[in-house]
Amino acid sequence: MSHTAELIAVGTELLLGNIANTDAQMISQGLSALGINVFYHTVVGDNPDRVRQAVDIARGRADIIITTGGLGPTCDDLTKVALASAFGKELYYDEPSAQRIRDRFAAMERPITENNYQQAMLPQGCTVLDNDWGTAPGVAFESGGVHVIMLPGPPRECEMMFNYRAVPYLKGLSDGVIASRTVKTFGIGESAAEEKLRALMNSLHNPTLAPYAKPSGTELRITAHADTEAEAMALIDPVEAQVKEILGDVVIGVNVESVEEVCLSLLKEQGLTLGAAESCTGGLIAKYMTDLPGSSAVFRGGVVSYTDGVKAGVLGVPQGLLDQYGAVSPQVAEAMARGAKAALGCDIAISSTGIAGPDTDDRGTPVGLVYLGLAYEDKCYVKEFHAGHVARERVRRQSAQTALDLVRRYLTGLLK
Ligand code: ATP
Ligand code: MG
Repeated sequence: MSHTAELIAVGTELLLGNIANTDAQMISQGLSALGINVFYHTVVGDNPDRVRQAVDIARGRADIIITTGGLGPTCDDLTKVALASAFGKELYYDEPSAQRIRDRFAAMERPITENNYQQAMLPQGCTVLDNDWGTAPGVAFESGGVHVIMLPGPPRECEMMFNYRAVPYLKGLSDGVIASRTVKTFGIGESAAEEKLRALMNSLHNPTLAPYAKPSGTELRITAHADTEAEAMALIDPVEAQVKEILGDVVIGVNVESVEEVCLSLLKEQGLTLGAAESCTGGLIAKYMTDLPGSSAVFRGGVVSYTDGVKAGVLGVPQGLLDQYGAVSPQVAEAMARGAKAALGCDIAISSTGIAGPDTDDRGTPVGLVYLGLAYEDKCYVKEFHAGHVARERVRRQSAQTALDLVRRYLTGLLK
């Protein structure tokens, strides 16, 4: 049976626009991975009557209600009282939860105030969702065919409680398992990917295939419902193969987060090291690589050669090339990459030189034009990349990621 969930975020600060409802975004993504429909998000202030009204509406159109916020110790934390009353449940004092709260304060070496014990008042007959990331326990119960899950508001706590407490509870509601796998791409937009895959998507029921746009590249999520994990995987396998076949070399991997993550594993597998010479990306390539734990095994370092002086002085780019072609040129991209390879002592060096904007240079080079070099062995490959006349931040991010995609292409034999 398919389930429909409704999210109710409780918090006046959300209505005032002080904070964004990021909990709802995180939970919706998680529910969609479980194959659970979400048709409505509601946001309601810290007002018991209005929370009650929101719940009454939600229970008429969803069989799972997930609330966020208002589980804490202060007087505006009213979610449990409102939900318990809506479902005709009394609150009771849950001693194990009270003990966990005492232990947590003791561990933080902070005195506990009396109002903290309010967090141990829970609806009769509920499943307690122990909170290892904060003080307020979460709650789940079923009443009249509707499942209610209450999670704390602070985003990190909410995310942990959702992933480690709510998801196992929700998986227990469906017969069989729901499994998904994500094919990650780089260099193709969501709409272009959808167009190529539309016929396949329309022909599928189980598993389903859906595209998601992410700043790090479009993702195609394949979700299957089956009696066992193995059966679900067997349903996913042929669809994964078809997606890869249709999309070709823009597919960077399966269940991977980013192109840099793929580069890190490929470099490790092949025992190669990487370095960077960055102009317009200003260190972003190095940042993306060093964001990853374990990157020190393969990433040797980078030079932010933002001026001609540093390009010439540190990387050994011939002054004649800079004068003749300008810093934003394939010739300089190549010299930067070769120079970085020598200076950094790495197997592969990548370079970036381009116009991030908003203004052009004195040669009138278009904003968004970037040359990326990749030096390996005694050769060098140069790519002309057009990010387009978009925001500076976007030109820089896309250029850095495209440079890393060049590394991925080189390491997988796609650069000819
Ligand atoms: P606490 O124990 O901290 O009081 P709580 O479960 O009572 O937690 P709230 O008091 O409603 O939750 O919110 C705590 C903080 O969590 C808010 O100040 C806000 O920064 C954040 N928060 C609450 N709801 C959301 C939401 N839906 N999305 C993002 N952040 C939220
Ligand atoms: Mg609170």
